[in-house]
Amino acid sequence: MSPGVKTKRAGWIKHADRISIDEYWQMDSAMEGKCLACGDIRSMCEPDARWYLCDSCEQYAVHGPHEFLMMDLVTEGADE
Ligand SMILES: [Zn+2]
Repeated sequence: MSPGVKTKRAGWIKHADRISIDEYWQMDSAMEGKCLACGDIRSMCEPDARWYLCDSCEQYAVHGPHEFLMMDLVTEGADE
């Protein structure tokens, strides 16, 4: 992974990009990914997808639930 990607990623991640553990399992079973740029859910996404193209904002920012876990973006509670 290049340093450039890391910088880009850090710039995108907002508090709102976190998912709950419930969403994690939902995304995992439904094969969904979430866009870090606009927050939209994309279907037909592998659980470990990284930098998939988002249909909504046309940025390569969709990540599968496993990647959210890796980036420490999965919260314990349903609320936060
Ligand atoms: Zn998007």
